Amino acid sequence: FRTLCLSFTILAVSLLASAATDGAQKFNYESDVARLRKIVINSLYSHREVFLRELISNANDALEKLRLTSLTVPEVLEGAESMNVTIKAFRDEDGISKLVLRDTGIGMTPDELTANLGTLAKSGTSEFLARAESTDGTGTGNLIGAFGLGFYSSFLVADKVYVTSVAAKSPKNPDPQQYVFASTADESTFEVYPDPRGNVLGRGTEITLVLKEDALDYVDTLKIIELVNKHSSFATTFPIYLHTTR
Ligand code: ADP
Ligand code: MG
Repeated sequence: FRTLCLSFTILAVSLLASAATDGAQKFNYESDVARLRKIVINSLYSHREVFLRELISNANDALEKLRLTSLTVPEVLEGAESMNVTIKAFRDEDGISKLVLRDTGIGMTPDELTANLGTLAKSGTSEFLARAESTDGTGTGNLIGAFGLGFYSSFLVADKVYVTSVAAKSPKNPDPQQYVFASTADESTFEVYPDPRGNVLGRGTEITLVLKEDALDYVDTLKIIELVNKHSSFATTFPIYLHTTR
């Protein structure tokens, strides 16, 4: 791979976890997620490229949190030296198209994976839902600009999403563990389980999108460069690296 530096730079999830195999716990999304999915399917198709902006913005937020925390808790920097975002798009050995976004930010503990990604109990999204449901969908594009769809916009382009994360080391988290949050677009449940590979990330978060059949254009690095330039070039403070095969 040649690395190209594009130097522009809790809540009430139904925590009714059912016992599952290999240490995995299964959770139900809270009901707002179902409402959001409906809107996503019905009216957001033409705005789906915003998913990348949302994921980059989360990565940048996580790096900023790490930087701020490190001022008072220096050990959070242990685990991975660099502070950046890496994007990799490829077809795997089975011909499945994947987009992988990795950041070396603050990361998430298993509890945070469940709480932060399994619920939409955030003021922005709640307002988004209320407004989107009160219109016929025509104004939804503006709403996305105003409120953002956040992490859940991943499902605009992905059938399946894996979020692998290691929270930064701290007195509260002396032995960071790598956990995976896994969810498919068409189910109302998600799973959280210890990564059988152990802690290979060191610190931070890696999001793997298994692209939908009709979203394969996002496996093209030129398309990714275009989107980063269009939506994220002035919104990020940390470098974004893109793996390319050309
Ligand atoms: P928002 O960014 O508006 O809070 P999102 O849906 O985009 O909403 O993300 C939900 C939450 O998930 C974030 O607030 C954060 O706590 C967590 N999160 C998402 N992506 C990451 C990431 N890459 N690293 C660490 N935490 C993340
Ligand atoms: Mg966000």
